[in-house]
Amino acid sequence: MLHYIHVSSRDRNELIDITDRVEEIVRQSGVSSGVCHLFTFHTTAAVTINEGADPAVRRDIAGFLARLVPVDASFSHGEGNSDSHVKTSLVGPSQTVIIEEGRLLLGTWQAIFFCEFDGPRARKVAVKIMPDP
Ligand code: ZN
Repeated sequence: MLHYIHVSSRDRNELIDITDRVEEIVRQSGVSSGVCHLFTFHTTAAVTINEGADPAVRRDIAGFLARLVPVDASFSHGEGNSDSHVKTSLVGPSQTVIIEEGRLLLGTWQAIFFCEFDGPRARKVAVKIMPDP
């Protein structure tokens, strides 16, 4: 079962909580035990799992990555968004979450974030639900 989550980012660097949308896909799948794979098709966006309770954490992560990899004219890539490509490789394009009792097996404070590094843009995340064999 393959699904897509469409995301519209508003900032150049932004973490967007997509946990509820992934949970809804898992719920509708009817799978009680298995795994949920998430994958972005973008070269300047990523997926991560981190604290969802305090919105300051997602802002700190996006802000720190922006300071860690600044827009730098000395990059070779002509599009001028090499910082976005580097941040994407640091975070990575995918995550896997265990499904148990029909729900994502996440820690109390964990949430799934789409990471925008070259927004604002319209994006999508592929969600593959795989039941236990
Ligand atoms: Zn580029």
